Amino acid sequence: MPDQMEIEAKKDALIQAAKRCFDLRLQTNAGGNLSVRLSSSDAIVIKPSGIGFNECTRDNLQTVDLDGTIHPSPFTPSKDLGFHLGLYRIRPDIRAIVHCHSPWATGYASAGIEIPCLTVQTIEKIGRIPLIPLSPNGGPQTEAEISPAFRDSKIVAAVLANHGTIGVGPTLTKAQYMVEILEETAHIAFVRDTLLAARGRSAADLPRFGTDAEARAATGCVDRQLA
Ligand SMILES: [Zn+2]
Repeated sequence: MPDQMEIEAKKDALIQAAKRCFDLRLQTNAGGNLSVRLSSSDAIVIKPSGIGFNECTRDNLQTVDLDGTIHPSPFTPSKDLGFHLGLYRIRPDIRAIVHCHSPWATGYASAGIEIPCLTVQTIEKIGRIPLIPLSPNGGPQTEAEISPAFRDSKIVAAVLANHGTIGVGPTLTKAQYMVEILEETAHIAFVRDTLLAARGRSAADLPRFGTDAEARAATGCVDRQLA
């Protein structure tokens, strides 16, 4: 049996994360979804379908067992419940998932262009951002397309063509940071590539940008610190 106090605490954390996504304009209207795994039982708390990130409350958030059993509620869980459950089943390290339709990152994904890991933060905290194509029938991505991309335990974020972003993590805050970094990086990449194109150049003309650790190793310098 899930612990009721834990459910209430996880609902409060989810409400806070959802409001932050809304305030940052990572998710407007009633799209997107987010969930968090319980410690007291094999179950999650997830946003219902048709409820906006800014309208999540203790009364409308839902509890669903990892086997798909939906606890009694007047609401229907997010239509992406399947991929949330799939990720929790294959990756015990994933304790929270945030999925948004944020415009910069989704723009890249919809153009079929991978978001480049071009900042220290993306290289060190994300590493690789898989771009997951639409389902074979042309519909939105499901567990069948999303789970394989996350089988590699190093993958913490992905983008969905014509759809949005996914961030995962050991906490809601960490999962949220992933979707924030995706959006920030897509915006930076767009500005960089637009400026380069205006000067008839491309990213291939730039020196390769690595991590601080790589720079130290390359120069043999051990005491250089990034500001
Ligand atoms: Zn979606």
